[in-house]
Amino acid sequence: MRTQLELLWELQKIDLGLKGIQEEKDRYPKEMKKLDEKQKVERERIEKEKEKVESLEKTRRQKEGQLNLEQEKIKRAEAKMSEVKTNKEYQALLGEIDAIKEANGRMEEEILRVMDEIDGLKKDLSKREKDVGATLEKIEAERKKLQQQMSRDEKIWEKQMERREALSKQIEAKWVKLYHTLKEKRQGVGVVSVKHETCQGCFVNVPPQLFIEVQKNNALLRCPHCNRILYWEGDPNTK
Ligand SMILES: [Zn+2]
Repeated sequence: MRTQLELLWELQKIDLGLKGIQEEKDRYPKEMKKLDEKQKVERERIEKEKEKVESLEKTRRQKEGQLNLEQEKIKRAEAKMSEVKTNKEYQALLGEIDAIKEANGRMEEEILRVMDEIDGLKKDLSKREKDVGATLEKIEAERKKLQQQMSRDEKIWEKQMERREALSKQIEAKWVKLYHTLKEKRQGVGVVSVKHETCQGCFVNVPPQLFIEVQKNNALLRCPHCNRILYWEGDPNTK
């Protein structure tokens, strides 16, 4: 038959374990949110670069359209050439055609420059997409790991809560009550072990006579300094 003190000691250990799990449970949603944000940032970065490429493609199309119109103008001017009657008219038309051709040459250069820029961006983009893909995969793996930890913790939690309830029923009500009161006042710790004649709750030495009594583990003894219930773990070597 286990003593009340031993049961209380186990209850304390369970409660400390539950406290740890609770802290983890509180942490998970925050971690998840962080992962979501990371994912969002990566995706947005790619989107921005894609938008830039699209805007350049649009510029290119506009310039090409314009170039086509100008080339039509040249064709029309050239067609008129056969109809001119004077040298003056001929020279004027020729000048007009030359001017358009020159402007078109500049536009062609601009189009080539835009195309170069698009090529460069596309190359960067495809590399970046690979990098982001790898990062997103990593984030997904982290998320999965977190979910596994969560469900594992949830199972342990339920099991320990059951154990806790069963245990509490075996301990006298007044002891349970005292334990809870102490636990609340003393950072979640109501029962502590004594090692090297020192209370492991407040780390103050216990008087020698009390230490002898504590080692018997058969009475509810409390630390004169922090008031916690004292427990002897039973290893005589750890004096
Ligand atoms: Zn103490």
